Amino acid sequence: MLILVTGGTGYIGSHTVLALLDAGYEVLIADNYINSKPEALRRVRKLSGQDVPFALCDLRDEAATDALFAAHPDIEAVIHFAGLKAVGESVHKPFLYYDNNLKSTLNLLNAMQKYGVHAFVFSSSATVYGDPVSLPIREDAPLHVASPYGRTKLMIEEMLRDIAQADPAFRVSLLRYFNPVGAHPSGLIGEDPNGIPNNLMPFIAQVAVGKLDRLPIYGDDYDTPDGTGVRDYIHVCDLAEGHVAALKALTAPGVYTFNLGTGLGYSVFDIVHEYERACGHPIAYAMKPRRAGDVASCYADPSQARDTLHWEAKRDLAQMCEDSWNFQRNNPDGYNDD
Ligand code: NAD
Ligand code: UDP
Repeated sequence: MLILVTGGTGYIGSHTVLALLDAGYEVLIADNYINSKPEALRRVRKLSGQDVPFALCDLRDEAATDALFAAHPDIEAVIHFAGLKAVGESVHKPFLYYDNNLKSTLNLLNAMQKYGVHAFVFSSSATVYGDPVSLPIREDAPLHVASPYGRTKLMIEEMLRDIAQADPAFRVSLLRYFNPVGAHPSGLIGEDPNGIPNNLMPFIAQVAVGKLDRLPIYGDDYDTPDGTGVRDYIHVCDLAEGHVAALKALTAPGVYTFNLGTGLGYSVFDIVHEYERACGHPIAYAMKPRRAGDVASCYADPSQARDTLHWEAKRDLAQMCEDSWNFQRNNPDGYNDD
């Protein structure tokens, strides 16, 4: 069974490609390398021992997206990771985010309908819950987005509901990720952010390896056990396996929504201390004011994925930090090392 993985050379996509190959699926990756590098593909091929097919394709290009399906009539399902994902950047460049994330998805769905492909797994985000009204967050919690990035995720979710309602052949899984971290245990693939990282764990990783001086900790006066923000960090390999489970379960028409998280909340200091254990030395930090738009706490109720997909995150925080450090130590400049 051939699965088209858009954004398959990116952070989560590359790990998911390996999980799909492990599970016996065939994979075709489509990416335009706007936020990834050919080295990621080389490493995925090396780790899998397979010459994984790749199409250099900007999904904003309608003709190119159509041609992808025309050239691969055996595509049976699509896992759609391709998209821009920086919340802050989306506030300054909303047109870029709407243009990229929405147009790509529309082109894909158009081609899917034309070529009779109806199984779709979408990378949504816990950002659609905004500032949660209660914790842990269930899939039926109220939705509220605070950035153009978040709005593209919510708009695509709604678009998919409309399309599935109008065409009952569509089977759609909306996967709302909590905070993906960590790396493949080989240390060969992992997160390779451009410039200074926005997210906590890649920032800590770069402090640990000496590329950045100190971690800014944004706020210590939240209503949380130690005053810093609490999040649900999930190992990227668990997340990747969640996609395989979602794909396997996608047998009936309709739209299904799942939180992919661990259900556990950790504070910024919890992460710093666990990372110090992983790397064996202190992480320098400086307290800073709260970051605009941040919420105090956000963690999943993952029971729907456990009960329906028979999937559960297995890797703990120590494993997340050890694997992140293993990748960072082996690749201090990310994929630029080669
Ligand atoms: P990433 O940037 O590493 O991967 C996205 C990939 O999509 C990149 O390889 C990029 O080159 C490709 N891409 C972007 N626009 C494209 C286009 N128009 N045509 C073809 N390829 C294109 O990001 P990631 O962390 O792997 O995230 C994957 C998905 O999961 C994204 O949709 C993101 O919004 C979503 N998500 C990520 C997180 C997170 O914290 N990493 C959390 C929630 C949701
Ligand atoms: N955070 C921090 N310093 C950083 C980056 C993040 O203190 O350099 C905090 C942030 O305020 C939040 C948590 O770490 O409480 C997770 O932030 P991240 O950006 O990784 O994820 P998100 O905010 O999207 O959940």
